Amino acid sequence: MRGAVIHAPGDVRFETLDDPKILHPTDAIIRTVATCVCGSDLWPYRGAEPVDEPHPMGHEYVGIVEEVGSEVTHVKPGRFVVGSFATSDNTCAHCRNGWQSSCLNREFMSTCQADYVRIPNAHGTLVATDEHPDAELVPSLLAVSDVMGTGWYAAVAAEVTPGSTAVVVGDGAVGLCGVIAAKELGAERIIAMSRHESRQKLALEFGATDIVGERGEDGVARIKDLTGGIGADSVLECVGTAESMRQALHSARPGGNVGFVGVPHDVAIDGQELFFSHVGLRGGPAPVRAYLPDLIDRVLAGRIDPGKVFDLALPLDQVAEGYRAMDERRAVKALLKP
Ligand SMILES: [Zn+2]
Repeated sequence: MRGAVIHAPGDVRFETLDDPKILHPTDAIIRTVATCVCGSDLWPYRGAEPVDEPHPMGHEYVGIVEEVGSEVTHVKPGRFVVGSFATSDNTCAHCRNGWQSSCLNREFMSTCQADYVRIPNAHGTLVATDEHPDAELVPSLLAVSDVMGTGWYAAVAAEVTPGSTAVVVGDGAVGLCGVIAAKELGAERIIAMSRHESRQKLALEFGATDIVGERGEDGVARIKDLTGGIGADSVLECVGTAESMRQALHSARPGGNVGFVGVPHDVAIDGQELFFSHVGLRGGPAPVRAYLPDLIDRVLAGRIDPGKVFDLALPLDQVAEGYRAMDERRAVKALLKP
């Protein structure tokens, strides 16, 4: 089979690789229907994370089950499945508590930009649809495997409630999905912080009520203006930089909550400031598996359309162009099809 391999920052190649095999009775092999490039894939691509040796890439996927190990009984070959970027057995104490992305047997997916993928913990990770979905629903189901699930978690972690005011920091794919989540969870006012016209448009389409283009303390001042000087009930931090985290913490009202899902890079939090702010803070890799059945239903019912975050579709063999386009901000998110 063929798949993407990163050799060094800026150097992603599409290469012939060994076909994946069942290694454990809990594995499945899927044939990729669609995969994509994640904002977090850009960290090594831009040299912000080291690339010590060439390795495969990709952690978002939907596919058709090809083969299952002997302990995988609830998904059968031929079924269309959606999974999470973090695999989980769905039976351990953390899974039962709803924190599948902290599963005691967790393995992070990292080989999905390829024709075929081995899914560890397949029994607890994969959710099959009743039927093969229509082609136009595939992008939204793919989004559910990471960005939509992560945006949902950001809203849950920020404790968005009906009638509340939510601020979304970050207008990448996760931030835009965070707008969808805040709307679905009933936020009355959704303030999207974005400077890019096309992303502002999509945020408004997804349910944002206000757009703030300012950043840093100017952005915080605008949020205060818009909330009568109080601050927001819920803030979804979807970037992961020191500036975005500061902006998020300063935008929440006393008693408000920040859900942070951007993987932090050089983020330091001042303990005294957090103490006196009365702001609640929860983040981490999203327990996407917990939300999969619900989010798949919302997509299939036509309630949400997170697939709109893909503004570039390429054949899988042009994966390097997907990275380039996202790195150069010519695309928000690139979808790839074998
Ligand atoms: Zn578990």
